[in-house]
Amino acid sequence: MNDISEPLPHDSAGQERQLRREAAVSAAAAQGLVGVDQPVIGLLDLAALRDSAAALRSAFEEVTAPGQEVLHAFAVKAAPLVPVLRLFDELGLGCEVASPGELALARAAGVSAQRTVLDSPAKTTAELNEALANGIAVNVDNRQELTRLDGLLDALASDHDLPPLGLRINPQTGGGSIDAMSTATVTSKFGVALADEGARAWVIEAYRRRPWLNRLHVHTGSQGMPLPLMAEGVAAVYELAEEINAEVGRQQVTGIDLGGGLPVNFDSEATTPTFSDYARLLRDRIPGLFDGRYALVTEFGRSLAAKAGTTVARVEYVKSAGGRAIAVSHAGAQLAVRTVFAPEAWPLRIEPYDSTGARRGGPQLAQDVAGPCCFAGDLVARDRMLPIMEADDLVALLDTGAYYFSNPFSYNSLPRTAVYGYTVTDSGAGVRFATIRSPQTLEEVVAEAGADHVDALVGDLEETG
Ligand SMILES: *Cc1c(COP(=O)(O)O)cnc(C)c1O
Repeated sequence: MNDISEPLPHDSAGQERQLRREAAVSAAAAQGLVGVDQPVIGLLDLAALRDSAAALRSAFEEVTAPGQEVLHAFAVKAAPLVPVLRLFDELGLGCEVASPGELALARAAGVSAQRTVLDSPAKTTAELNEALANGIAVNVDNRQELTRLDGLLDALASDHDLPPLGLRINPQTGGGSIDAMSTATVTSKFGVALADEGARAWVIEAYRRRPWLNRLHVHTGSQGMPLPLMAEGVAAVYELAEEINAEVGRQQVTGIDLGGGLPVNFDSEATTPTFSDYARLLRDRIPGLFDGRYALVTEFGRSLAAKAGTTVARVEYVKSAGGRAIAVSHAGAQLAVRTVFAPEAWPLRIEPYDSTGARRGGPQLAQDVAGPCCFAGDLVARDRMLPIMEADDLVALLDTGAYYFSNPFSYNSLPRTAVYGYTVTDSGAGVRFATIRSPQTLEEVVAEAGADHVDALVGDLEETG
């Protein structure tokens, strides 16, 4: 983690979130939601989810022209949980989906086609047809996909209402501090690489020939990306939209999809940068984007949900090896994939609690916090100074509302954890929980492992062809 931390702005919302979290962890322990029977759970702070959705909306309301259309499509992969999508829908957000599964989740949550955007670098013909038939906006990734779309459109009735259709651009403005998260490098796999030789002219010609191409899409952000670099990516696409419209002599591009990728501060309680920081930066850098001529789409994921989530796991044992204290907990790679496999890029704050759910203070010791998986690297913290932990304690992994327990990895046939939403009354005395996802049962784990085909490999194989 950083040795020198910048002084952070006073963040009273962050402090309130911390109080709610501590109340929720102790209530979860008291009610037995986590403990001996359920050794690890995910918790989502419903007030924090509401606050982040409201902050996103107001940040863009502040900078857009009166009446300018803005769709905030939550990136489903960040928290693929139907009740969360339903809550965001109620708060006026839509969904950005990138697979048939994510589209099915959005539909199950009741999100309308008009509020759904389909992105994905590998859309099948069936997915494209489904989107066209149902009025779901599509961002085309590459030249071959565009040719495929041409064919599908030819087969549609001429009076079929088309959804917004755009092309994803890679402005090649450069990556951030995490390679695996950098979408706008020169050789990124995403979108049409705009600075490649001939690419710009090709894009303009592609729009000229296809009057139905009316959007441009860019998604350059992610964890580790500086905001000014994200804004450069959006600026490049805005300039391209202006150029296309000038070349074809009408406003053919009517919408710009800015993508998501606002980084999240995992070092403290402070929410920084804010949606408002980013929206203002965009307005200052690209005023024309906010004069009302373009409908806007955003696709934020992590920044809407990360700080609302807490993973709470039981410490099964404590031990020591070679002088290193190790707490063996139930939170490991099955729910903290990135932190376990790329610990430098994804450090998490960790808070020990005793078995009653009271936060531990007292003397600190350098400890490893290990998970339950059977490989040596299954650690969520290494050599970290933390209050001394004991067996039966609980350990909380903070800011894990996006891409953690909602995105499980079935290593060691560990089940998907339960996820609960919580609300805390103003006095902090009452905590209410709602089940967002039930824990996976052993029967489900076994079924997922092919139990229906138990005899498939003994005896003769069936003829299939
Ligand atoms: C993952 C993704 C997002 C969301 O990114 P976050 O970093 O979670 O905000 C948005 N758009 C696209 C195309 C994505 O792939």
